[in-house]
Amino acid sequence: MKIIILNISPYKDNDAIISAFNNDGSYDFIARGILNSKNKLAMLNNPLTYAEVEISKSKKSQYESIKNANVIFSCMELMSNFNDLMWCSILADVIKKCLNQDERPLIFKPLLITLGALKANFNKEIYILSLLGLILKLSGFEMNVSECNICHNKDNITNFSLKRGGFICKNDNLDNKNLSREQLILYRDIFKGFVYYGKEKYQITNDDFKKISKDILNFIADVLDFEIKNITLLYD
Ligand SMILES: [Zn+2]
Repeated sequence: MKIIILNISPYKDNDAIISAFNNDGSYDFIARGILNSKNKLAMLNNPLTYAEVEISKSKKSQYESIKNANVIFSCMELMSNFNDLMWCSILADVIKKCLNQDERPLIFKPLLITLGALKANFNKEIYILSLLGLILKLSGFEMNVSECNICHNKDNITNFSLKRGGFICKNDNLDNKNLSREQLILYRDIFKGFVYYGKEKYQITNDDFKKISKDILNFIADVLDFEIKNITLLYD
């Protein structure tokens, strides 16, 4: 079966319990010897590794165990780009803390597309933002990007606010800040649902990507009350 590994918890000796998921469900497996760097499973010891694994049932343990594994993608492939590597770590942390075992399968395909975009270094910004938008929605914070979320008017949309739940019109805009048309379209695309763009290049300025991703991560950490590891490394 093919799985994305989310978490590796040391168990005993060099064994660890691996939490993983795919489109069909979430799983906990025991991976014997994984913490020994010479073990054949050691390459699985990294969050967001996508691998094909062979599972076997054991009468001795409550967990099924991983017998063999073939890595399809590992975040170690992103070693040459520090920010991409940090994004892997942050996405793993956010998914682990925001989504329960029933919710994780719902982001499997979007996450695979995002990892593919990081690897290809193409359209990764729009996929990271859309994935964060989807995680927010599954956590109970769906953003309204089809109308003003205060008065439900569709006209004169001038701003977007995470705290106020989506688009804000001119009359309800408290801070005298207006977003550009391109920025409003970007917010709509991030929160309308996860879309696959194929070979079409999605343009986002570096400033917009930094600001919006930082705002979303801080909002998630705030409303769900946890600290996101490594977030300061990304924005300093
Ligand atoms: Zn309004």
